[in-house]
Amino acid sequence: AGTELLTPGDIRVLSAKLGITPTKTLGQNFVGDGGTVRKIVSHAGVSEDDHVLEIGPGLGSLTLALLETGAYVSAIEIDRKLAAALPETVGERHDRPERFAVAEFDALKIADHELAVPPALESFTPTYLVANLPYNVAVPAILTALEALPTLRVVDVMVQLEVAERLAAPPGSRTYGVPSVKTAWYAEATRGPLISRSVFWPVPNVDSALVRFERRDQPDADRAEVFAVIDAAFSQRRKTLRQALAGWAGSPARAEEKLRAAGIDPSQRGEKLTIEDFVAIANVR
Ligand code: SAM
Repeated sequence: AGTELLTPGDIRVLSAKLGITPTKTLGQNFVGDGGTVRKIVSHAGVSEDDHVLEIGPGLGSLTLALLETGAYVSAIEIDRKLAAALPETVGERHDRPERFAVAEFDALKIADHELAVPPALESFTPTYLVANLPYNVAVPAILTALEALPTLRVVDVMVQLEVAERLAAPPGSRTYGVPSVKTAWYAEATRGPLISRSVFWPVPNVDSALVRFERRDQPDADRAEVFAVIDAAFSQRRKTLRQALAGWAGSPARAEEKLRAAGIDPSQRGEKLTIEDFVAIANVR
């Protein structure tokens, strides 16, 4: 299939034509490097006929690299001008534009909207989420998508390096925290290659990295309850679990009882616990 990727020159020309001034609040940093977008696509493992969801397609850099594999792509873009311009950009540079569709809405509200279905398909069932995510909403966007779209098997996204490290951090490490444990409820995370800030326009203050999630069997527990325990345990990082979970359990004594019943030392801190530990605590009756 014929596909022409966007160059740095294309990024400038397209932004000027659309009257786009990239905004920080929407995390608008566009990639104008074909090598980078192809690297993301091959890291994700997308191939012919896969159904791929993309969040924040922007001017279409990664979109075109995804389409180049022969995949179907449905995108969600919050910026009206960008969303409106994408079909034309794809039509001019990809010979199977009927494999692409875009919807304009906030990816954090994915549960309230229908995904756009590419005209070549009768229905769209995403198994991959591949994106260069807007920095300010990266973690909630990942969690929201994994929750709302149970067919997603792989989430492979570019985020700030620091966030990638936090997401893939093992229990007990310095960067382990709420994002690491909550995403672990859905999937196993692995940090991927570093991406230099220099591939973006405008150039951001930090480097990025890929992070890959592979969905796992969901634990047998009430998710809202498990997440409440996680939030309580990390809201007071320096406190022991006995103290940190007192509010959630009703009292320090009740927290201690539940922790012991789950086989967890009440004098430990939350940052040592795995998702399975949090599940065990939430499941104590
Ligand atoms: N994928 C493009 C690329 O690699 O060049 C653009 C990536 S840019 C880092 C993030 C994109 O996400 C922007 O196009 C921005 O408008 C869009 N965006 C920001 N917040 C969003 C949200 N809540 N829902 C959907 N898209 C959003």
